[in-house]
Amino acid sequence: MNIAQNVNRIRERIEQAAVRAGRDPRSVELVAATKNVSVERIREAISAGVKVIAENRVQEFLQKADQLKSEAEWHFIGHLQTNKVRLLGDRVSLIHSLDRISLARELDKQGAARGSDYRVLLEVNLGGEASKFGLSESEVRPFLRDISGYSHIRIVGLMTVAPYAVNPEEIRPVFRRLRALAESLSGEDWPGVVMEHLSMGMTNDFEVAVEEGATMVRIGTAIFGERPAPGLG
Ligand SMILES: *Cc1c(COP(=O)(O)O)cnc(C)c1O
Repeated sequence: MNIAQNVNRIRERIEQAAVRAGRDPRSVELVAATKNVSVERIREAISAGVKVIAENRVQEFLQKADQLKSEAEWHFIGHLQTNKVRLLGDRVSLIHSLDRISLARELDKQGAARGSDYRVLLEVNLGGEASKFGLSESEVRPFLRDISGYSHIRIVGLMTVAPYAVNPEEIRPVFRRLRALAESLSGEDWPGVVMEHLSMGMTNDFEVAVEEGATMVRIGTAIFGERPAPGLG
């Protein structure tokens, strides 16, 4: 299967999952996760109608964004080092991975410097895996309290990287909890916070995520095939 066929097939699967859940398929954005994927292959995905490209590493993002310029909208989904925020400038429209105070402070500072707010998602680690980044569920409200003075960050939803499971049904409770958390936060009074987006679901489990309310699915392998090792792509 080539990239265009993969994209079309994923679209169909998103659509079917949305319909099963009584949702509007247009409420789900396909975000292409392109770490280690070449500019040529990313361009094929864009030609097939992918609108949003997401990178994990700032250097890789900068190289690719320079070559692809305004052909797509760019998101950042990886662990973001504080000292790299400045390099992103205003070239990403959404950062999915806000996971600590020091990063919030830096985003606020750079947002003030460039005169516009950063749109971000809070990364929540619901699987409890120590190897994953993200706030635990119990850390979310204290975190929101701590950053409430940062006026250049707009939190527009939640993101999670779910644990891997051979059977994606096993991940359903994780997606359900993320959605329930977003719903309860919506009912509370957090200035600068709106729960518009749930970024959840990857190659292995995106249909379940869509059924549980994902508004963004981040998909790499199902579009581009298995990733080559870093440095070879
Ligand atoms: C690589 C990556 C994805 C995509 O994973 P696939 O299983 O290849 O679809 C999604 N989200 C994040 C944060 C990633 O790093």
